Amino acid sequence: MARRLLEARALHQKIRAIDVRDSRILNSVSAQDLEGALAGRRLSSAIRHGKRLFLQIDSGLWLALHLGLTGWPVILEKGSAEPRHTRLRIDFEGGAALAFDDLRIFGEVGLTASPQDFLARRGIGPDALKMEKEAFLAAMSGRKGKIKPALLDQGLIAGLGNLYADEALFQSGICPQARSLKRERLEALYSAIQEVLRTSLASNADFEKLPNSYLLPHRRPGEACPWDGTALQRIKIAGRTSYYCPQHQKK
Ligand SMILES: [Zn+2]
Repeated sequence: MARRLLEARALHQKIRAIDVRDSRILNSVSAQDLEGALAGRRLSSAIRHGKRLFLQIDSGLWLALHLGLTGWPVILEKGSAEPRHTRLRIDFEGGAALAFDDLRIFGEVGLTASPQDFLARRGIGPDALKMEKEAFLAAMSGRKGKIKPALLDQGLIAGLGNLYADEALFQSGICPQARSLKRERLEALYSAIQEVLRTSLASNADFEKLPNSYLLPHRRPGEACPWDGTALQRIKIAGRTSYYCPQHQKK
């Protein structure tokens, strides 16, 4: 969603000014270098990879944004108020601006010559939505541990996140504590991940707009499984809260 918004509103406009409001957001780049790379340039394309956005500058370099947990790019129309926790602001000629809002500064802003090299250097695995089925099966099979932490391991698959990992496991009938899954169950999980992420994008990540057969609208203590009415269970796995249905999600 962030990528589509940026493509529609922030690309192809000449950059008038850069304002780094909080240098803690910068990763391996100085405010001066960032300004030098962006001022007078245009952003020409955008790629999303998990929680990262890469915006190509018309010089060939890329602006690398990591959204972290609380980071979000916001498009500002001329004269509109900027978000409270703006850490970086890019003003375009014509009056619109791009503000990178990040309450807790878990996000990052940097520059790179190649998003592929950037991701490889950080050991970030393929994006969940773009990952081929065979690559997913290869990453997940032959593992001894529980399936849920593997789905959250950014080195194996990027951008799934705790809530959507729970949803994909729910939809494919797999318990988050299941281990050593057979190929056909991993295939079902792969299909569920694709469907869940596409449905989420189509609903603009608004849980109220998700189908009632989804776990996410029911993901609260005391709620029942929308498939079979069984009380949902809540457990911690590798430090993350997991919800699942003990009836239809099998180990
Ligand atoms: Zn159930």
